[in-house]
Amino acid sequence: MSRHGGDVFIILLNNIHDDDSINYMVDMLLTEVSSPFAFAGRNISTSCSIGVAVYPTDGHDFEKLFGRACKAMSQAKEEGRNTARFFTEKLNTDSLHYLNIAYGLREALAHHQFELHYQPQISLKDAQVIGAEALIRWHHPQNGMQPPAQFISIAEQTGLIVEMGGWIIEEACRQGMQWQKNGLPPLSVAVNVSAVQFRRGNLDKVIIKALEKTGLNPQLLELELTESILLEDIDHLLAQLDGLKKLGVKLAIDDFGTGYFSLAYLKKFNIDRLKIDQSFVRDINTDPNDAAIVRAIVQMAHTLNLEVIAEGVEDEAMLKHLRESGCDEVQGYLFSKPLPADAFEAFIKNMYSM
Ligand code: C2E
Ligand code: CA
Ligand code: CA
Repeated sequence: MSRHGGDVFIILLNNIHDDDSINYMVDMLLTEVSSPFAFAGRNISTSCSIGVAVYPTDGHDFEKLFGRACKAMSQAKEEGRNTARFFTEKLNTDSLHYLNIAYGLREALAHHQFELHYQPQISLKDAQVIGAEALIRWHHPQNGMQPPAQFISIAEQTGLIVEMGGWIIEEACRQGMQWQKNGLPPLSVAVNVSAVQFRRGNLDKVIIKALEKTGLNPQLLELELTESILLEDIDHLLAQLDGLKKLGVKLAIDDFGTGYFSLAYLKKFNIDRLKIDQSFVRDINTDPNDAAIVRAIVQMAHTLNLEVIAEGVEDEAMLKHLRESGCDEVQGYLFSKPLPADAFEAFIKNMYSM
């Protein structure tokens, strides 16, 4: 970074692999610069306008890139303060989307716009509901209910997933306890956790605190991990998972069968359950390969003393096939969509005629 003169600064980013890495920096700069700071006993806040030019799309030399970045910055100023513009229009559209979501997520955290929905998980042994998967929803004040596909990846890139994830874990534990207080049998709650939470968030401490605060039996909490955790520092990850396993927390691998989770990792991580990816379940009746994959996963899991749950179960034919394959539990629209907590409670009470 260098000061070009007056109030103009130049920041050169190298080793940028994709546009979202630029968006991440832009978002961070706008947020940092605009956050108030104390000076001489007063709170002062400021703002900045950012113009971005990208090599080689916007130019091959400094002069060209600098000129175009200045042009973009003038546009940012015209748009109003504390914003950014790219020289290339397509990047502007993408960036605007990113910045809007990132800003919206911060607002959502501050104004309690998140809610967890719960989808029942059913044992095929006795057709009882054994637990629920917690799935996040965002009540956007203008755009209505947003599914996680709209915002989880930006929450991960900005790091906001750490704060969101803390709330998600505590809320799921609290709800699990609340159902017990309302007379439901002890149900497990499965929470999706992102790799970023392990890296940046001291996830083990967050979970221990949530369990202590809510009083939920650790055995009733399950973490759904995806293979993206394999990109983390494995020793650090193992230390965190080890501590949680000692408490009794359960571990599941989500979307199993789509990635590179090896048998060695399943053993090393002390996994309890595999969740067969929806893509295999979807075509289980029509694609013999998928049917064979499901059977192989179940057999392998049982040999390793792991349970297997299938998700995305939408009809009776799929259910029949999964039962014949030896699957232990199922989850899907055939039984219920993910429900708000009170509707989930009503679903269970209705099921058991309580
Ligand atoms: P996932 O963990 O694989 O969750 C399963 C998704 O399949 C959910 O979508 C669920 O609503 C949907 N689903 C359930 N039953 C069926 C079915 O029978 N048929 C079909 N076609 N779909 C079904 P949703 O809620 O939109 O969540 C999407 C993804 O967002 C999740 O995939 C998960 O990766 C992520 N996500 C959701 N909540 C959280 C969260 O609290 N934290 C984190 N880090 N990620 C979350
Ligand atoms: Ca999941
Ligand atoms: Ca999944």
